[in-house]
Amino acid sequence: MKKLSDIGEFGLIEKIAAKFESDEGIYKGIGDDCAVLENQKEYTLLTTDMLVEGDHFNLEWQTPWQIGWKSVIVNISDIAAMGGLPEWGLVSIAFSSDVEVEFAENIFDGMAEASKKLGMDIIGGDTTHGNLLTINVAVIGKVEKENLCMRGDAEIGDVICVSGDLGKSWAGLELFRAGEKGYTDYYLQPDCRLEIARKIAPHINAMIDVSDGLSSEVRHICDESKVGAEVEKNKIPISEKTRKTGKKLGIDPLKWALHGGEDFELVFTIPPDRLPLIENVNPIVVGKIIEEGRYLINSEKKKLGGGYDHFNK
Ligand code: ADP
Ligand code: MG
Repeated sequence: MKKLSDIGEFGLIEKIAAKFESDEGIYKGIGDDCAVLENQKEYTLLTTDMLVEGDHFNLEWQTPWQIGWKSVIVNISDIAAMGGLPEWGLVSIAFSSDVEVEFAENIFDGMAEASKKLGMDIIGGDTTHGNLLTINVAVIGKVEKENLCMRGDAEIGDVICVSGDLGKSWAGLELFRAGEKGYTDYYLQPDCRLEIARKIAPHINAMIDVSDGLSSEVRHICDESKVGAEVEKNKIPISEKTRKTGKKLGIDPLKWALHGGEDFELVFTIPPDRLPLIENVNPIVVGKIIEEGRYLINSEKKKLGGGYDHFNK
């Protein structure tokens, strides 16, 4: 019998997607950062992400406030990746009985702070018992029809851009795993790029957020847009702090940028002649959209691999 580790997270999602048809009113069901429902002038965006103790956070490293913060950020990052704005949030959470009230409240304080910062109201949810702390946040948002940016909107000839440093979150995780100290700030309290996304949405083609590494996100854009991509190794932005962490741990930080994830930066494509329109957000050009194949270019041309997969670690 095949196991989930044989087909991976995305293999499973493909099988799930095949079971549900796209009905009238559903502009996009499974297969992007958010589901998209059609209204009159706008699209409604819906997304949900679950965080499980031990997999997505570790109580020894993160405070409850930081866990609450992150659970909201990861969802709003998906809304940002469609070019939209978050509006409403629903929080479902499982606690074990011995959890202290103050701990539980701190989680919600972190959620409240992130929601307030990004303009979302939490309006409901569900609370239940579970041995592992599990948090699911669902977000409803909106986007003007002309601003919707899908994974499938890339065009041959577009340049591929990223909004900021990559590999910074995984660097912190690896430090904790190694029992070392250093640059862990971003891993503990990531941010998302809602403001940048809103500025660029009217001018760009495809967009996705970085949850599983640049390599995985470029693959999603290529699959959905039915195009190929070339990424230039030397153009991938990796900060000095992340490089130093790589040196300390003896790991090439490029691996974190390509196959790590949780940076919640944006990867987007834009025709090169429109680049001046988004100069104000300092886009970093890392490659271009080609007809087919996915390559990492250095002195030689290599195949670009996959990204982080929850069932194939
Ligand atoms: P992201 O990393 O942007 O949160 P995912 O890789 O988790 O996106 O999901 C990709 C697509 O698959 C999305 O459209 C999502 O809604 C869908 N999806 C993931 N898991 C499930 C599931 N259990 N049931 C239905 N759809 C799912
Ligand atoms: Mg996403």
